[in-house]
Amino acid sequence: SDSHFPVPISPSHVDYSLHYPHVFLPSSDQNDSSKKIQFADIGCGFGGLLISLSTLFPETLMIGMELRDKVTEYVKERILALRVANPGQYQNISVTRTNSMKYIPNYFEKGQLSKMFFLFPDPHFKEKNHRRRVISTHLLDEYAYALGVGGIIYTITDVEELGEWMKACLESHPMFEALTEKELEADPVVELLSSATEEGQKVARNGGQTFRAVYRRIMPPL
Ligand code: SAM
Repeated sequence: SDSHFPVPISPSHVDYSLHYPHVFLPSSDQNDSSKKIQFADIGCGFGGLLISLSTLFPETLMIGMELRDKVTEYVKERILALRVANPGQYQNISVTRTNSMKYIPNYFEKGQLSKMFFLFPDPHFKEKNHRRRVISTHLLDEYAYALGVGGIIYTITDVEELGEWMKACLESHPMFEALTEKELEADPVVELLSSATEEGQKVARNGGQTFRAVYRRIMPPL
């Protein structure tokens, strides 16, 4: 349960030197304290997306948020091994065990993030469990708070009904607008949505269809 993992009481209590020791040397004045986490992979699973994004955006700090303890530990080990095998690389990615449905505001200040990822989230098919879905009108309010204007939320699933649900939630929210086809084609991150994660690779191996919704955080119309 939630009592088994520590939760920072505010974004300024997130210990960056633990997550990114090469960027934030403990008790050193070389720390670039203005540097903040910009990408969040929600329900990151085994971490494939973070690893792909790490070298694509080497200057950007990113974090995976994962509820399962063992999976989080696996991702930690995976990142450490990559850092050892590739000196100087993979210093910008990390993972934390947390319940993203409860604690996003504990990790990120208003407007801090430029990208949020929700790749192959759990579908929660039954109507009474829809409130457990990681995309909902209520949670989109929180994500809109954490994302800066112009920030992008990426969602993908192989469950058609969930894909329609996520799209409908985003479409009806006043602080999000869909990216155009042209913008989707120009964004190098979009192709990773279906190929970089372990779940995406499984769906691709099985020849499954995927349903994508990619939206930009906007200023709400007056
Ligand atoms: N995004 C990964 C991928 O594409 O391979 C993992 C997809 S997996 C189907 C969904 C993941 O979300 C699981 O690892 C699960 O533990 C995690 N998860 C579910 N609810 C969560 C929550 N409230 N907070 C954080 N992670 C959660």
